[in-house]
Amino acid sequence: MEGKAWHQLGEEQLLETLGSDGRIGLTHEEAAKRLQEQGPNELAEKDGESPLKLLLNQFKDFMVLVLLGATVISGLLGEMLDALTIVAIILINGILGFYQEYRAERSLRALKELSAPSAKVIRGGEYTQVPARDLVAGDVVLLESGDRVPADLRLIVCNECSIDESALTGESVPSTKEAKPIASSEIPLGDRKNCGYLGTMVTRGTAKGIVTVTGMQTEMGKIADLIQQTEVADTPLQHRLEQLGKILIVVSIILTVVVVLAGILHGQPIYEMFLAGVSLAVAAIPEGLPAIVTIALALGVQRMIKRRAIVRKLPSVETLGCASVICSDKTGTLTQNKMTVTQLWLGGRTIEVTGEGYEPVGMLKEDGKGIDPKGDTTLRRLTQIAALCNNAELAQQEINEEAKKRKAGKGENAQADSSEWKIKGDPTEGALLVLATKTGTSKSTLHNLYTREKEFPFDAERKRMSVLVSHQGGRMVCAKGAPDLLIGQCTYVLWGGQVVPFTPTLKSKVMSANESMAKNSLRVLGMAYRDVKSHETCDNGAQAENGLIFVGLTGMMDPPRKEVKEAIYKCRQAGIKTVMITGDHGTTAEAIAQALGIMVRGSRVVTGSELSGMSDEQLEKIADDVQVYARVSPEHKLRIVQALQRRGHVVAMTGDGVNDAPAVKAADIGIAMGITGTDVTKEASALVLSDDNFSSIVAAVEEGRGIYENIRKFIRYLLASNVGEIMTMFLAMMAGFPLPLVPIQILWVNLVTDGLPAMALGVDQAESDLMQHKPRPAKENIFARRLGWKIISRGILIGICTLGAFILALKAGEGQSQQLVHAQTVAFATLVMAQLIHVFDCRSSRSIFHRRLLENKFLVLAVLSSLLLMIAVLYIEPLQPVFKTVPLDFRDWALVIVAAGIPTFAMGFGSVLGSSKRRRKGSKITYGGNTASPRLAR
Ligand code: ATP
Repeated sequence: MEGKAWHQLGEEQLLETLGSDGRIGLTHEEAAKRLQEQGPNELAEKDGESPLKLLLNQFKDFMVLVLLGATVISGLLGEMLDALTIVAIILINGILGFYQEYRAERSLRALKELSAPSAKVIRGGEYTQVPARDLVAGDVVLLESGDRVPADLRLIVCNECSIDESALTGESVPSTKEAKPIASSEIPLGDRKNCGYLGTMVTRGTAKGIVTVTGMQTEMGKIADLIQQTEVADTPLQHRLEQLGKILIVVSIILTVVVVLAGILHGQPIYEMFLAGVSLAVAAIPEGLPAIVTIALALGVQRMIKRRAIVRKLPSVETLGCASVICSDKTGTLTQNKMTVTQLWLGGRTIEVTGEGYEPVGMLKEDGKGIDPKGDTTLRRLTQIAALCNNAELAQQEINEEAKKRKAGKGENAQADSSEWKIKGDPTEGALLVLATKTGTSKSTLHNLYTREKEFPFDAERKRMSVLVSHQGGRMVCAKGAPDLLIGQCTYVLWGGQVVPFTPTLKSKVMSANESMAKNSLRVLGMAYRDVKSHETCDNGAQAENGLIFVGLTGMMDPPRKEVKEAIYKCRQAGIKTVMITGDHGTTAEAIAQALGIMVRGSRVVTGSELSGMSDEQLEKIADDVQVYARVSPEHKLRIVQALQRRGHVVAMTGDGVNDAPAVKAADIGIAMGITGTDVTKEASALVLSDDNFSSIVAAVEEGRGIYENIRKFIRYLLASNVGEIMTMFLAMMAGFPLPLVPIQILWVNLVTDGLPAMALGVDQAESDLMQHKPRPAKENIFARRLGWKIISRGILIGICTLGAFILALKAGEGQSQQLVHAQTVAFATLVMAQLIHVFDCRSSRSIFHRRLLENKFLVLAVLSSLLLMIAVLYIEPLQPVFKTVPLDFRDWALVIVAAGIPTFAMGFGSVLGSSKRRRKGSKITYGGNTASPRLAR
């Protein structure tokens, strides 16, 4: 570089230094070779907690340490077998806890990797997207508004490009970029107008740059240590559960102390009572709860990925279940984003275009008769604008074997069609290219005749795009965009082959043609052009798009996604309102909203200009009744979110463009598009849809509800089990009975019942009516909807029944040598069985009779293995002295099963009776301020 900095080099010298080519980029082989040499384009990340530390953490718990201490003492006092067994149980418990936490951490890490950024590059002359970590020096990178700059770049083309470099320079005003070299060597980063830096954000325009350095060599890499790595924060529920855990520890310890004191007062040996008390405390403290919550969240999130929704912020999983409004973009989310131009309107003439998809085969018909585009100057002008003011590419691609089979399956001629037509870039522009090719106007021929000098890129605010091209005869501006806005820039119109003044009468003719195309669900774009005088400056969009000549309208079909109608119906049943927010025309939006079933009786369409004239209070008043917002600008979206939130809604909002980011951030659940979304919006979002599809949002809401209910299920199970254990001991001590369970049995119950069955509940299938009731309130207590009552009532019943079985066995065995050991074995078996039966009850918000018993295979396996572990300590002779058990006979088992079944089945019958009474009364759900019966909502 002869001592020159990157910003000083001219394009040629830069490319020579980096061994690259601005047009075709690096070859794939060269890029792979450089990646080997230079290493990945990544910032070094701090390591997470080591597995060993995670394992040791399991034994840090205060009560576990007390138990270990007590065990050591009992070992020293001669109870060696007891001591070893207790240590073994504590170890197994610790390993189980470690496994749960390790798995939780790994799943979270995998999630982080999924949202890794990508970069748009030209390699081997082809446009492609690669993971940002694979970029190497010399790569040609394309940037557009909303992208995060993927490495340090020297820019060689800039189209109205601004980059927000505040992350690096602290300067909040985005820096306007220019490609020309800068002479001075020592200038601050913020003034290097021809460079782009890793991690900064493109806020406007487009650019092309060459990668200069990657990874830790970048400017961001130099300060990487200063940048906080984003930590995976606890969700509010995890936080609340942590606090609950602390309360439960205190309560468990108090109750344990009471149990111990009562036992001692009734003459039990102090040492034995102490050990039993500590064991009880260890068993009763639900130490596995946080890990199981994380696993349930992480596994749920993985299920969501399969349903094409990637969660970026774990807390949103909880919020998803509370969503009461989903605000969705139209194009690409509710519709397929597969555009085909089907109609043209040129100065009073309507022309139909035949053909489907991107294959450029079709006819143009006027009044039912085919027309020859070649002789039609207005039509040629329109297609010329369509092709020149266009960044998409149309190409024929070989299709793979699988796609061939799919085609053959559909009955299409797979032999003849070994390739298919694809577009790269914006589908709207792709459709216009297809139209141009159908009329014989090829983009490549045009590009030989016209050189693009400047582009004034499309943005959601102006709703148009234009280019300045030069040709042999001079210069010309070609513009396309939303007709209602574009005609404001036009002073002339091409009518009957003549350029005439664009009078109000002619304008209203254009607008009514636009309206009638929109009524047929067509997305309409207007086309205009003008010649530019040689001395005229054309530096910005405002100068270029002034005094244009209007040419005509193109109407394109974008069919609704097939699965969306069903998803919207599902939302309605679930008490969730769907709102369409689109940049498209009101009539087009309304027609599509009707077809999808979004519009309900009494709902309204509000346009962006109406919104601009409304105060926030006025908007809030009507927000519940509006189902479609059309021709909105991104900043309107923020107002809509806030108005809905003020009305008490939990709002999910989609966005793709850079300007959508504030609204996506402000929403309770910000959703970005995985395919068409910009990096800025993705980073502001909580959820990314990998297929841009509305129905994936509904799937995520469904999963969100399911995960929350599963968390409630195992909280219910774990806490009711613990209440049962404490109650058994507490009631026995208060009533002056001997210990119904010895310490090792208590620990064993805890081990076999808490771990696996609780984890299996975390992945339980959702109840069938999950999406048939209103969303739960965001601030709902985890114990709401009678969960607290269920925990206490089932827990006390389990305690009473276990003690009952113990007393009966004690009485029946009077005078026998093994009387107490036998009764304790009965109590032990009853407690385990009661919990293993109760776990099935926890699957339903109503009762055990409302779910299919064997549906959750994991649970069945978990219960069977717990059962086997219990049977092992009863019937394997060497284990009997360790666990202080004796084998039970048939009569004992009858007692155990009856006593263990009572808590679940007695409450189950009660609930069945209760729910049949409620059914007779009928139920309704409310949403959007209206009361609607789910059956009638369609
Ligand atoms: P949604 O917000 O639901 O995705 P949308 O894609 O129609 O809807 P925008 O992309 O903001 O919203 O487009 C708004 C309008 O801008 C369109 O109705 C169209 O008239 C015009 N438009 C869209 N794409 C282009 C483009 N590439 N060039 C010029 N004008 C465009």
